[in-house]
Amino acid sequence: MTSPRIEIDLRKIRQNTQVLVNGLAAHEINVSGVTKAVCGDPAVARAMLEGGVSELVDARVANVLRMRRAGIECPITLIRPPMPSETDEIVQTCETSYNTEIDVIADLSAAALRKGKVHNIVLMVEMGDMREGIMPDDLARIASSVVEMPGVALAGIAANFACMGNVAPDAGAMSILSSLANEVEGACGPFLETVSGGSSANLPWALGLGPKGRINGLRLGEAILLGIEPISGLPIDGLHTDAFTLVTEVIESQIKNNTGPLHLIENSSSELHVVRDNLCRARLVTAIGLQDTDIHGLRFPVDIALIGATSDHMVLETKNIAIRVGDEISCQINYCALMRAMNAQDVKKIYIDEMAQNSRTLNKPSRTALTVV
Ligand SMILES: *Cc1c(COP(=O)(O)O)cnc(C)c1O
Repeated sequence: MTSPRIEIDLRKIRQNTQVLVNGLAAHEINVSGVTKAVCGDPAVARAMLEGGVSELVDARVANVLRMRRAGIECPITLIRPPMPSETDEIVQTCETSYNTEIDVIADLSAAALRKGKVHNIVLMVEMGDMREGIMPDDLARIASSVVEMPGVALAGIAANFACMGNVAPDAGAMSILSSLANEVEGACGPFLETVSGGSSANLPWALGLGPKGRINGLRLGEAILLGIEPISGLPIDGLHTDAFTLVTEVIESQIKNNTGPLHLIENSSSELHVVRDNLCRARLVTAIGLQDTDIHGLRFPVDIALIGATSDHMVLETKNIAIRVGDEISCQINYCALMRAMNAQDVKKIYIDEMAQNSRTLNKPSRTALTVV
């Protein structure tokens, strides 16, 4: 089969979504499915929708357009503040956008009026992540200006944690966000439909026992796709952590014990730490490189360790000298490696889906259907 490739198990993504949607429904929190790490891949987006997310969310208009062209009609929210140069496209393709700049909201308002639409505005509040966001003291004033603008509707407020900074959102921060929601309503009247508390990093708080206040939404990417809680890096109980597998092909396998001291790059997530001994080892060169993924975000099979990579080659070492040219090495991947691989045109995307199997390969029930795009 063609390689390098990323195998995407849509069943696992659907199941992860279902588990999170059901778990959070018990706390009256809606889940928005974040598609940016898969570049708006429509098959993954559909798996999230089938798993029960209330809307899709992406950071880039290009990804939103890709989903719209594939026929996805659900509400889509742009979570990166708009570039002023793209406000027309945003009003055309997204029901809602996250905003922090009143001048850009004015552009969205003008674009919406030209198109005869009403565009929803969620105001992002800065609560310590040090990325985008309105300072809490300015929030009520900006919210009041939005309420007065035609063509836009104030739909809610949102906060963001642990995207740039590594600060975990806690009950204190969530209760401040709830108070801000009340304050905004005190200042401008309309009921805020959405109070979006954050991302996968908020799950320990959201699934915990404490009160949820006004928080009624989370935007989940990593937890759905990789089953991982980003701050601890630990797997989340009940979720699949192997929905994505990156497969690369060996183009050289030779015993090379004669080359001076190697500076091995330790693959900290691998079980194997290469220890110098007298065992025979094969050096493997595989046909994938820095252009295709984040090499340091790969987790290799236990008997394989990373030596290094260049733009087009990845070099591994193994005690398994049976591995030959043409053999494939499968790796599990982290968020950064996933994002880069999904964006790499030379990495083929292969979809594994039981639903497709049922409709297309009825005479081969034991095999899983693979769809190549
Ligand atoms: C990427 C992003 C998310 C999703 O984060 P995950 O850790 O993947 O759940 C949520 N909100 C914003 C604003 C983001 O940029």
